[in-house]
Amino acid sequence: MRHYDLIIVGASFAGLACARTAALRGLKVGVIERKRDAGEAVRTTGILVKEAAEETDFPSQLTRLIRGVRLYAPNGRFTDHSAPGYYFLATDTPNLLRWMAEEAARAGAALMFDTAFKGGVQGADGVRLPDLNISARLLIGADGPTSTVARAFGLDANQRFLAGVEFELAPDDDLDGRFLHCFLDSKLAPGYIAWAVPGVGVTQVGLAASLGKRPDARAFLDVFTTRLGLRAPRIVGRRSGLIPAGATLKRTFDGRVMLIGDAAGHVSPLTGGGIVQTLRLGRRTAQLAADWIKAGAEHPAQALARETPRFATKLWLRRALDLAPPNWVWNLAFGTTPFRAFAQRLYFHRRGDAVGALPDAAPTVSERTTDERA
Ligand SMILES: Cc1cc2nc3c(=O)[nH]c(=O)nc-3n(C[C@H](O)[C@H](O)[C@H](O)COP(=O)(O)OP(=O)(O)OC[C@H]3O[C@@H](n4cnc5c(N)ncnc54)[C@H](O)[C@@H]3O)c2cc1C
Repeated sequence: MRHYDLIIVGASFAGLACARTAALRGLKVGVIERKRDAGEAVRTTGILVKEAAEETDFPSQLTRLIRGVRLYAPNGRFTDHSAPGYYFLATDTPNLLRWMAEEAARAGAALMFDTAFKGGVQGADGVRLPDLNISARLLIGADGPTSTVARAFGLDANQRFLAGVEFELAPDDDLDGRFLHCFLDSKLAPGYIAWAVPGVGVTQVGLAASLGKRPDARAFLDVFTTRLGLRAPRIVGRRSGLIPAGATLKRTFDGRVMLIGDAAGHVSPLTGGGIVQTLRLGRRTAQLAADWIKAGAEHPAQALARETPRFATKLWLRRALDLAPPNWVWNLAFGTTPFRAFAQRLYFHRRGDAVGALPDAAPTVSERTTDERA
């Protein structure tokens, strides 16, 4: 039986960030991933907020800088939002994850693809996975929203979700590349939004809805192309997945098993953004695990719990959004100052205050209708 300090289940954002740092800190790390490679069948739009871009130095050719957000009401009016110095990165997500896998391997982690975690046995000194003939002092479940590790060891499992679906389209130059385009529409995306991202080599168009409500990406694609007057889209790929929407789970560890990333509910229940936390807490888990194994520090999961956001306010706002206000309410609210201030805070929380066009934008108009596009 091969023995590791850490076995990490899942080679995505959380698992790979954790694996790289743990290996760099001298731990013997094994990563098991059921996919054949880290970039296969990606289940995310992959947008990085600036804070996520600051967590890891990603190769710039795998990203595309986006400065602002254009937010559309159901009736086609829109407002532009930005903040000085702030940006988002659209990503070539499959290749970004492949790059993260290479970095983890270069640091010394053993990556085992095409290998699924099915169950394990916990003892006082660690965990054994008899079917894979491997064992570790600590098993880390970074295996996403419907974690098998959580189920196998009786830990908390995510119960509330948003369901997301997205088409990758051949790139459309007519889509204004300075913005993430976000659409409020409770008929198409009840409880969430629809989006169009001028991505890296593709345009990504998708939407999500509170679970129990079906997001219809085809219907949105029709509305989106008509509304923005774009060419008939050519679909080149599809992504879909569940987004945990119940905030950080309570029981995320037991003895020698712990959860991180989506598996632990480390996702904003309001925005559905999880990558920033998965990168930050994945890396932090590795540091804490190294301190625990090498220097007898406290259990990494106990230490991590103190540094993990609980998302209490965002959970309340999520409950309000789950009510899916009818479109006329969005239309009515849209032009008001409080609503604009709320949108600005949502996208650019504590990051400056600039509702309106970007400095290099065409006319400085903060609110227009779709027909009035420059
Ligand atoms: C449609 C959609 C769009 C999103 N867009 C964004 C966005 O733009 N920005 C943002 O910040 N967040 C976004 N999110 C959320 C973000 O993608 C997640 O928070 C993030 O991917 C979580 O990373 P993770 O490593 O915890 O889990 P995951 O990315 O879910 O990875 C889990 C990994 O574990 C593997 N795995 C699962 N079970 C097993 C098993 N039994 N054995 C072995 N391997 C296993 C999976 O194959 C996978 O590779 C989006 C989510 C969805 C669904």
